[in-house]
Amino acid sequence: MSLFDDHFAAKNAASARAWAMDEEKKQKEKREPAPPKMGVCDKCHKEALLRSYRSRQTDVVDGAASFGVVVKHLCEDCAPKSRREKDAEVPQLTNKQVKNLMRSAKKGLL
Ligand SMILES: [Zn+2]
Repeated sequence: MSLFDDHFAAKNAASARAWAMDEEKKQKEKREPAPPKMGVCDKCHKEALLRSYRSRQTDVVDGAASFGVVVKHLCEDCAPKSRREKDAEVPQLTNKQVKNLMRSAKKGLL
């Protein structure tokens, strides 16, 4: 084996090892989602147990589109749901909307 081959083989083995470690890390992340943490929800600003969600975002600034991944910390109520769940979901009224409805009803507007 020449010196070159030896060097090449060592380099190759190192990158293969790095790749394997990376894959292992990815698998681990997939298996164990981050535990919820107490904090303030990005959407409703309530203090609750939060999970972080990565979402793709497209921004158009001055006519130029930029793509980015935004990490949001959301409570269970605000957590993004799968499309199927979303379709089945009955729209919920917020407390404010309910109060407004009650007020309207009292005034005989309904
Ligand atoms: Zn929330």
